[in-house]
Amino acid sequence: MPVSNVVDEQGFLVVTDRPDHGALVLRETLSGVLQVERRNLPAQLLLWIAMVLAATHLPNGEIFVLPLVARLAATTHTGLAAEILGRRIHAGTDYGWTLPYVGFALLLGGASWGYLLATVMADPVLVPATMVLGGGALVGVSLITAILAPTQRLFGHFLAGFVGCFSLVLWLNSAEMLSASIIAVICMAAVFMAFAYALSSQRLQTSRALVENRLLSEELAESLAHAEFLAFRDPLTGLLNRRAFFEFTRKAEGQRDRHLLSLDLDNFKSINDRHGHVVGDKVLVHVSKAINHIVAGLPEGDHCAVRLGGEEFAVVIDTPDTETARNATESLREQIAGIADRIGIKETGTTCSIGLSSWTKDRTIDDVICRADDALYKAKARGRNRVENAA
Ligand code: GH3
Ligand code: MG
Ligand code: MG
Repeated sequence: MPVSNVVDEQGFLVVTDRPDHGALVLRETLSGVLQVERRNLPAQLLLWIAMVLAATHLPNGEIFVLPLVARLAATTHTGLAAEILGRRIHAGTDYGWTLPYVGFALLLGGASWGYLLATVMADPVLVPATMVLGGGALVGVSLITAILAPTQRLFGHFLAGFVGCFSLVLWLNSAEMLSASIIAVICMAAVFMAFAYALSSQRLQTSRALVENRLLSEELAESLAHAEFLAFRDPLTGLLNRRAFFEFTRKAEGQRDRHLLSLDLDNFKSINDRHGHVVGDKVLVHVSKAINHIVAGLPEGDHCAVRLGGEEFAVVIDTPDTETARNATESLREQIAGIADRIGIKETGTTCSIGLSSWTKDRTIDDVICRADDALYKAKARGRNRVENAA
């Protein structure tokens, strides 16, 4: 996850929600299964061609026409369904109807294998080509079992289709061999289930490890973003901190003419004393919002809003025009004076004193801070709740 996603445009840290672990493991497993399923398509087609060739060498070859056509249709259908679900997983969207659709395609796929194998067993002709058909069907079913093993649900659909069709066709073709057919079906199903179980645990472990790794790296990125946030931002207000301010001003020194305002809340201690620190903190957050609002309304530029500490703030206004800077500063003072009314402490009042200094290219930041602070003290001395320009 890119670090920039974790802090919003106002500088506040965004805590991201995690999807649940089991769902992630399933998604990872499905993604792996579908990938193998798609890559297995050429092998399935080759097997199908081999079986078609074998059927043409059998005296009873015509009985395999329908099962082989069903096999081809099922192979292409399953490939299509896997492709659709794979795209959804890749795009990170919900499975929607595509997961049941793949289940249905696998049910038909299993049925087509069952149909083919049962046709071989119902009318056995002992020639080598029968071995290719019967053996091919067993190899095909084993391959698909190996692929689907980690997803019990999909494997269940496939096995149900296989067992259902296999037993039905055997029974229809040789009703007198019913008990033998049932034993054959149970044995087949048991073999494939055991095979699937043996294969599934390893693949599931791999999926879990992949998901764990991904979650760990996301957590690491979040922790890094948090550390970065704390290094440069004030955790209460989200404004830049003193360290970020000096880093900014060091780079901005000598670039172009700007303005700096230095702001101190008036009699803030009495707000804490009368209403408690929680309300004091609320005032500080509202002040930071007012500052952000004023900065957002300024002409485009490289402005910088900072909480220097306690109830002291600074704003670098990236304009050489003193009137623009002065108007924005006055407007900020007015907004801050309205905070008390908004949060229900009208009787105490929330005013601030501001010193405004131009920051010309030839002035060092230390010099400008001194000038703005002198103007601020002048504002305090002249009765507070006012803006003074530096001399
Ligand atoms: P003046 O008009 O002269 O600036 O008076 P003042 O009361 O604003 O200034 P003073 O320096 O006496 O008090 C500042 C107060 O700010 C004291 C301190 O408890 C409070 N303060 C500093 N940081 C925080 C903070 O993070 N949260 C809260 N609630 N109060 C804070
Ligand atoms: Mg102070
Ligand atoms: Mg103060």
